[in-house]
Amino acid sequence: MKSLVIVGGAGRMGQALGEGLSALEQFSLFALVDQHEPPQLFGALYAATLDDVDPTKVDVVINFSSPQGVVASATWCGENAVALVIGTTGLSTEQRRAVEEAATRTGVVMAANFSIGAVLSERFAAMAAPYFERAEIIELHHDRKVDAPSGTSIATAMTIANARKSSGLAPLRDPTTRHTIDGARGADAVDGVKVHSVRLPGLVAHQEILFASAGEGLTIRHDSFDRQSFVHGVALAAFAIDSTPKFLDGIASLIP
Ligand code: NAD
Repeated sequence: MKSLVIVGGAGRMGQALGEGLSALEQFSLFALVDQHEPPQLFGALYAATLDDVDPTKVDVVINFSSPQGVVASATWCGENAVALVIGTTGLSTEQRRAVEEAATRTGVVMAANFSIGAVLSERFAAMAAPYFERAEIIELHHDRKVDAPSGTSIATAMTIANARKSSGLAPLRDPTTRHTIDGARGADAVDGVKVHSVRLPGLVAHQEILFASAGEGLTIRHDSFDRQSFVHGVALAAFAIDSTPKFLDGIASLIP
C-alpha cells in the first residue's frame, strides 16, 4: 500500500482527490498540506507545509496547488527521494526546470489533464489532424481558474501541430486579415492552431477540438462534469511512479 500526501489539500482538487483516493485500497492518505486548514481530512493528518511532514512516512506527493507550491514540492521530493505527481498548471519555464531537476533525483509524473477521456480525445485528435485543412480548439472552464489558456489546450495544439508536421503539412495560416476587435480570433497556440478560452461559473473542464475541410467537419468534445473525473488518472500515476529518477510528461503512456 502506498502512502500519499496531497499538497493543495484544502483546494477544490485537493478535496476531490482526498475523497477519491482515500477510498482506494492501493493507497493510504497520510497528510493533506495547505496554508489553509482543509474542510475535510479523510482520515489524514493536516500540515501547513511539507517541512512539517516526515518524509520516511511518504511514498508519493500529489501536488494540485500553485506553481510556487510545485517548486517547493519538487525541492522537498528531490531532497528526500519521494515520488511526485503534479497536476498544477500555469508553470513558467523556470518553474518547469525545477521539476525536471527534481526528476534527476526521484520519479516525477506531470500532466496537464489526468482525466482518461481527455487523454483519449488528444489521441483521437492526433489521428484526425493530417486529414483536415483547419483545426481550432475551444476550452471552457469554471471562472475561478486563474490561468489561460488551459494546459490541456496547449498540449492538444502541440499534438495537432506535430501530427500535421509528421505528415508533411505546412503550419496553419489564419484566413482572417482584418480584426475589428483585438483577440476575436483567439490565441495562436502552436503553428497556427488557435485556442479560444471561455470562463463561466458552473463549468468544470471542457474542450472541443474542431476540424474542418471543404464540406465536412469533425468535433471531438470532452467534458469533465465533476472533479472525480481526475481521480482515476492521478491514481494510475501514483501507482506507476516510485523514487527511481525519471520524468513522465503526461499519462498517455500509462493508458495503452
Ligand atoms: P484551488 O485554488 O481550489 O486550490 C489550490 C489550493 O492550493 C488552495 O487551497 C491553496 O491554499 C493551496 N496552495 C497554494 N499554494 C500552496 C503552497 N505553496 N503550499 C501548499 N498549498 C498551497 O485550485 P484547484 O481548482 O484545486 O486547482 C489547483 C491546480 O490544479 C490548478 O493549477 C489547476 O489548473 C490544476 N488542475 C489540474 C488538473 C489536471 O488534471 N492536471 C485538473 C484540475 C485542476
